Parts: sequence; structure tokens; C-alpha cells
Amino acid sequence: MAHTIAVALPKGGVGKTTTAVNLAASFAVEGQRTLLVDLDPIGSAGASLGFTASTVGAGLYEAFNFVTNFGAAIHHTELPLLDFVPCNVTSLQREDRILRLADNRTLLRNLLRPAAQPYDCVLLDCPPALRGLTTTALAAADAILLPVRPGLFSLDAVDKLFTYLDWMREVTNRPIGVEGILITMHEPRTRVSDITLRELAAKYRHHLLTTMIPRSTALGEASFYGKPAVLYEARSQGADAYRTLARELLSRRAEIPLHAGILERFGTEG
Ligand code: ATP
Ligand code: MG
Repeated sequence: MAHTIAVALPKGGVGKTTTAVNLAASFAVEGQRTLLVDLDPIGSAGASLGFTASTVGAGLYEAFNFVTNFGAAIHHTELPLLDFVPCNVTSLQREDRILRLADNRTLLRNLLRPAAQPYDCVLLDCPPALRGLTTTALAAADAILLPVRPGLFSLDAVDKLFTYLDWMREVTNRPIGVEGILITMHEPRTRVSDITLRELAAKYRHHLLTTMIPRSTALGEASFYGKPAVLYEARSQGADAYRTLARELLSRRAEIPLHAGILERFGTEG
């Protein structure tokens, strides 16, 4: 069964989509059959993979409305082991409707149960808010990955998400784990990066991932060209960091015995 990771933080522009796209591509390069699902009506993940309105057929919108089955919303990408489900919200009316449908917290989880079978890993790219589609994603996830861009407001967002996660565990009665906290757009030896790192280590040391994603122009450029960095400039620092991250997460998972997996990851903040 696929391991499902929600990439989430209730703050805009911290690198959620960049992480979801490049981590998904890196998992695929590492031989993992990977599915990336875009839960953000803005649709940046699709654009970052080169999809346009004319190349998207059905998406999450149609699957949530039961107009098509989930399988029909799955699109192949340039990477043989990476598939993608676009959000396909192309108007305000569609956005209103998908947000209403997302009130049913278990909808995505139920759709993914059969659809995720052929994959090793499913990544969910969340919008920068807690409610609505992020809640649907958390209810479907085995674990959350929190991308944190150095800065005070990101730290507030981490606290907020952990509080919300406790509530989600309670209402869904599921041990949603923590995949890790990932520093993005890291600039070594700058005060903001140093302070953010220190604060996170003091509070959430167990969850802080070893890999950090440096600020890298190749990552921004790659999404302009509709490619994950590994296909745009494989030797760039950004592409390299996301491959290292994929290896770190895979090796952490391999170290946890199967029967203990979810318990090991549950409830260890602080
Ligand atoms: P939103 O909350 O709006 O969905 P997000 O959290 O998904 O935003 P991204 O869209 O991934 O954030 O990134 C925001 C901007 O920062 C983008 O222009 C992206 O190209 C750029 N960016 C992300 N990560 C890096 C990085 N490591 N180095 C340089 N630029 C980056
Ligand atoms: Mg985004």
C-alpha cells in the first residue's frame, strides 16, 4: 500500500508546491512508483510539470463530483514512474463547488484507497490554508511534511499546524504521523535562517530533517519551463537537495519495522 504524504503548511510561498513536485520527481528517479495529487485550486503543481488547460483531461474536480472515476484523472508525466492528478479548478464556480465537496473529509481518502494501490508513494500538494482541501488531504495522509521557509511567520504556521494535527487525529481517529520539517530556501549564515533553525530545533528536534533545501534559482526556473529540476538541470544544487531528501525519507522509512511504523511516528512533537 502506498505511503501517503501531505505537503502542508498554513502559510503561502514557503515551498510546498516546489517540494511536492521535486520530491515526487526524486522519488520516481529513485525507483518509487509515485502519484502526485494537486489539492490547490491555483494549480501550480500542474504548471510546474508542464500541464496546461489543453493537456489536462479530468482532474480532482471531476473525481470529487463522481463525473469520472479517479483513474481517469491520473495523467502520465515525462518521468515513467511519476503520475499526476491535477486539481482542474478553472473557474470561481468550480472553486466554490470543490470547497463544498471537501467538507466531506473522507472523500479523498475513500477515492485513494483503491486508486493508490499501484503506487509506492502518494504526495498531496496542499493550499496555504488549514481548512477545506488541506483537511481532506490530512484525513487521507499517513504523514505530513512541513516545508518551512526561514522567518518568524513560518514558525507560527508550524505551531498552528501541529495544533490542528492533534485535532485531526482526534476527529478522524487516525494516527497521522509527521514525515518531517523541511527547511526550504535555506541561506546558510544568514540571521533569519540561523534563528529559524535554532527555534525549530528547540521545539521540534525529533521532526527536523537533516536535508535542507538551499535557495536555488534552478528550482524557480525549472517550474517556468514546466519541468521538475531533475529534468531541467539535474546537476543544480536544488535538484541535488531534493534527491538527497528523497533518499533520507526512504532510508528513515526502511529503518522503521513495518508493524511499528505508524506508532513510531505518532505523537512525538516536542
Ligand atoms: P502557495 O502557498 O502559494 O501554494 P508554496 O508554499 O506552494 O506557495 P512555492 O510555490 O513552492 O510555494 O514557492 C514559492 C516561490 O518560491 C516560487 O516562486 C518558487 O519558485 C520559489 N522557490 C521555492 N523553493 C525555492 C528554493 N529552494 N530556492 C529558490 N526559490 C524557491
Ligand atoms: Mg503551492
